[in-house]
Amino acid sequence: MDNLKKIIFGAALIITTSAGNSCGAFEVVYPKNLAMNTDAASTFFVGSAEAGSTLTINNKPVKIWENGSFVEVVTLHDGENSFILESTSGNEKKSIKYSITKNCPNKTAKTEPPLEEFGADEYIYALALCDGVPLREKPNEKAPRITHLSKNTALMVNGKQGEWYRVSLGPEKNAWVNSKKVVNHSLINGKLYASVEDVSLRDDKNYEYIESTMDIKTPFSVKEVDGGLQLEIFGVKSNAADSKIFKPMNSVKNVAIATAQSTANSTYYVELNHKLWGYDCYYDGKKLVLKIRKAPQIDKNAPLKGLVIGIDAGHGGNDSGAIGPTGVKEKDINLDLAAKLKAELEKAGAQVLMTREDDTNVPLYDRPNKAKEADALILVSLHANSLPDGADPYKKHGTSVFYYNNESKQLAKTIQERMITDLGTANDGFNRSSLVLTRPTMPLCVLLEVAYMLHPTEYMLMLDENFRKKTAASIRAGLEQYMTESTLSEQN
Ligand SMILES: [Zn+2]
Repeated sequence: MDNLKKIIFGAALIITTSAGNSCGAFEVVYPKNLAMNTDAASTFFVGSAEAGSTLTINNKPVKIWENGSFVEVVTLHDGENSFILESTSGNEKKSIKYSITKNCPNKTAKTEPPLEEFGADEYIYALALCDGVPLREKPNEKAPRITHLSKNTALMVNGKQGEWYRVSLGPEKNAWVNSKKVVNHSLINGKLYASVEDVSLRDDKNYEYIESTMDIKTPFSVKEVDGGLQLEIFGVKSNAADSKIFKPMNSVKNVAIATAQSTANSTYYVELNHKLWGYDCYYDGKKLVLKIRKAPQIDKNAPLKGLVIGIDAGHGGNDSGAIGPTGVKEKDINLDLAAKLKAELEKAGAQVLMTREDDTNVPLYDRPNKAKEADALILVSLHANSLPDGADPYKKHGTSVFYYNNESKQLAKTIQERMITDLGTANDGFNRSSLVLTRPTMPLCVLLEVAYMLHPTEYMLMLDENFRKKTAASIRAGLEQYMTESTLSEQN
């Protein structure tokens, strides 16, 4: 808290100091530079002005909020737009000129490089360079991900477009990988298919495992389906467990495996006794492991007792996140809220894992990994929202929660509904979004945007200690409600 108090106080101090030596002072936090380019049809000026002063943009008066914030949307025409910000306090005037260029729409569509088709039985044999290499639906970095590859997964490449390799996932199914993310590009003749030599089930305290022993590592994908999971291993010619009957376990009710010669895919239909509480699929050597979390046992009177919950304070270090009109940084608000939430959860009996506890830079991908290594059941990432050029901060605001995997959808919905009820903030929805902090399948992951840094009254709320306390209590209540409801429905 001390840190945040200092920063908020510091921001207030700057305004007072400016007023002391030059009347009519104001500070602009966005746009960051006096000249900028954008593709959007509008942008906004965000900053703060000294109490008692007036501010105009191109002679039009701008509303200054009670804490000195101003947020003003301006429309842009193609080419250069000039804006003069002028403040008056008594006889003193201060003005700054901004030049914002709206890029003209580029009508010439980018031409794609030609597709190189290989011969009918010609392949490049390539191996994934590291863990987490995405296989995509189309040859570009923005295309949806089909799955992620483990290091040294063997790929059969049957075509090339620019720097992208087309990967065969069966006779009719292809995916794309960036050729810079694979190694050992040797040419082979004929297909390179794997055999699954054995499949077995085992468990430990928190997890059940379905383990497939393979002779080579080929790509796989896992899908959430009604009642469980569907694992598909690509490029498989045979699976010794095709007709195997498995003894049911605590969580895994049934596993049925079918391998189709026509598609060279082995599909595992995994039926569960309860909803999904997290899963992971990875290679351990040449063994493909599907790891499934058992349902947590909860105490109805203290539903968070004994659970491990991860808290991620968004941004940190040299990544400030969004910056509010008076200069307070999102990273500091997030960290303060994270500490308050930690206290709430510990009071409720949970064990808390923080991805950062001070103002440091924690790489994005390390954050969910830390939570996973600590065996966290849930990971909550805390943020305050921002907007790009073209949006209107007065229209788009409120509380939103993001999830990606279906298993986390109800968690996102419960927390978001709890927050808008408890905090009285506008409903900005619960939304599916592919983010580093929402994509992991274990732990259950949600990302909270408590309110907007660019909305003057929401920003004032975020700076209010009591509001942050109330927010932490509301998130704790949302987590308790989710745990109670989802474990109760299981018993029915
Ligand atoms: Zn953020």
